[in-house]
Amino acid sequence: MPDAQPEDFMQRALEQAQHAWDLGEVPVGAVVVRDGVVIATGYNQPIGRHDPTAHAEIVALRAAAEVLGNYRLPGCELYVTLEPCVMCSGAMMHARLAKIVYGAPDPKTGACGSVVNLFEHDQLNHHAQVTGGVLAEACADLLKRFFADRRAQAAAARRAALAALP
Ligand SMILES: [Zn+2]
Repeated sequence: MPDAQPEDFMQRALEQAQHAWDLGEVPVGAVVVRDGVVIATGYNQPIGRHDPTAHAEIVALRAAAEVLGNYRLPGCELYVTLEPCVMCSGAMMHARLAKIVYGAPDPKTGACGSVVNLFEHDQLNHHAQVTGGVLAEACADLLKRFFADRRAQAAAARRAALAALP
């Protein structure tokens, strides 16, 4: 896809996020792109994997490093539906990604400006360009629908429990 736009890659990341939702995980998805081609994908799955580091970005970085046979990913771009946290931002710096593109901002744990901005520290970040806000509404909407759905399910479970009382 030589003519692919950032929105196209974010759309692919959104598809990954849907996989997370299907497994009951918070829907965040990521893809790693090199030379205009998606070389690796990942979605959030810390609960299912019993792994606090299994965020979408880390899963995608691991897969990309495996594909390239290299723990560094120079020239690669990572697209993720939600602003990366501190852990993922650190991992992406170690991977020496060229570019990071995220969708929705994360006011709770975002490390690209929302809570802190690790990438503005020249001593930490020598390699990555960061862009936010690509398909931000679609990315945020998926999360909102997920949490609304979960609240509705919890309410239904409470009602069912009450109804079952003698
Ligand atoms: Zn993270």
